[in-house]
Amino acid sequence: MKLKIEIAKESGFCHGVNRAVEIAKKVARKYGKVFMLGDIVHNEHVVKELESLGVRAVSSIEEIDKEFPVLLRSHGTPSQIVKRLKERKLKVIDATCPLVVNIHNKAMEILREGRVLIIVGDKGHEEVEAIKSFDGKSIVISGEEDIEAVRSVKKAGIVVQSTQSVEYVSKIVGLLAARIDDLRFVNTICRPTRNRQTQVKELAASKDVVLIVGSRGSANTRRLFEIANKINKKTYLISSADELEKGWFKGVKTVGISSGASTPKFIIDEIVSKIEKI
Ligand code: SF4
Repeated sequence: MKLKIEIAKESGFCHGVNRAVEIAKKVARKYGKVFMLGDIVHNEHVVKELESLGVRAVSSIEEIDKEFPVLLRSHGTPSQIVKRLKERKLKVIDATCPLVVNIHNKAMEILREGRVLIIVGDKGHEEVEAIKSFDGKSIVISGEEDIEAVRSVKKAGIVVQSTQSVEYVSKIVGLLAARIDDLRFVNTICRPTRNRQTQVKELAASKDVVLIVGSRGSANTRRLFEIANKINKKTYLISSADELEKGWFKGVKTVGISSGASTPKFIIDEIVSKIEKI
């Protein structure tokens, strides 16, 4: 019997990453080169392809050649860095995802209301650092252990990193609500992330094997893996078709595939054709 493969409706690049990649390509074509502080996405295949087109990732502002533009990536850039880029009179092209801009707007609204800003997200992640940059006193919650640090806060507002898991955030918000009298919660997990999480749960519950495709360095890919793995122990995280193992498909009738927001569609296609050969 032929193995049935189902790919989650939302897979491949999310809208925000796709938009940033297309802007980077267009700008590189126009100027011959475009700089970026760090990789455009946490995916080595995409980074390599863009490098060949003239998209250069650097680790410091000083490495940017003033002749060429600098692109702000989809997950946002700390305000101090934007300020320094402008002070150096560099041509700045903003490819921040509109849904991330929405988080920034909500965060600023919370601060204007005189609330302490609480960010539920991964400490050190660029998206979280960018939100945190609006107010040095913001609190980042990366796990239940950080709740302890929220003492004597009476009035606060919560925003969430766009790719956090819905269940985890509900739990954290519940714990914070028990401590803070006047708490406003804005659910800024983006719609594409929520859809991916719902779809991966459905796949995990209905398929024999689940493959999550993406880089191990991508937090949203790892999160999808964790969600699926809780439901289906035969869940595997792979970054390319080379990592597929024949043994995973022994006696298996159905396979579900989902991917992180920074995984290009062609990698999923390669995986499907390799499984079909197996
Ligand atoms: S994960 Fe959501 S917020 Fe982040 S870039 Fe993609 S669409 Fe935008």
